[in-house]
Amino acid sequence: MPVVFVGHGSPMNAIEDSEFSRAWISVAHSLPQPKLILSISAHWETEGVQATAMPKPRTIHDFSGFPPELFAVQYPASGAPELAQRVRGLLGAKVVTLDQAWGLDHGTWSVLVRMYPQAGIPVVQLSLDRQLKPAEHYKLAGQLAALRAEGVLILCSGNIVHNLRLLEWGDRGLDWAEAFDLKVKRLIEARDHAALVDYPKLGADALRAIPTNEHYLPLLYALALRGPAEPLQFFAEKVTLGAISMRSFRVG
Ligand code: ZN
Repeated sequence: MPVVFVGHGSPMNAIEDSEFSRAWISVAHSLPQPKLILSISAHWETEGVQATAMPKPRTIHDFSGFPPELFAVQYPASGAPELAQRVRGLLGAKVVTLDQAWGLDHGTWSVLVRMYPQAGIPVVQLSLDRQLKPAEHYKLAGQLAALRAEGVLILCSGNIVHNLRLLEWGDRGLDWAEAFDLKVKRLIEARDHAALVDYPKLGADALRAIPTNEHYLPLLYALALRGPAEPLQFFAEKVTLGAISMRSFRVG
């Protein structure tokens, strides 16, 4: 099963037609049908790693200032307690706590409502442990690789450039944001994961692009799951709203 990294951007992509929502629909059509989905979303940070293990995860509208139509969206996919257990088995029973309280946040459902609108594939979310360093996230992600052979689509949902304080209206990026997004693209193509893990050393633009790293970390999960000879294909490549990179790719 391929691995997908999606730059999710505004939750409005869930209900507004855009080149991004169309790209998500199209990539889903190109993938083999997953049995299950494991989503790593920028929007769930916890102390310690957690995996959602409820049979019926709720749709979480974890934003404000958007129209009622967006709050009305439900994504009624089932949970998959057996996948949560499997993840716990792979990462370690001392590492992963099974969660009964979270659900599907918009990092997950705003993308999946486009990719799989029928909501027929069970979904588990895996949280980002705030205590881990980027290199530790990368190592942990690699331990999930076996899931790919089991028909699990691993969806990594964040944004390579994500700075809400520097947003500007318009469908283009600020110069520094475009430059950083391109630098990351080149490093992905060169398979220089060490440089991407150690992103603060990528210079001043990195600090503007990644003021906090919760949107960047899902990228490291996708890269850690790439096999040595596996192809990688970008299916969205754009910086929008000044400081949001929608760059997205599939591995495999
Ligand atoms: Zn987000």
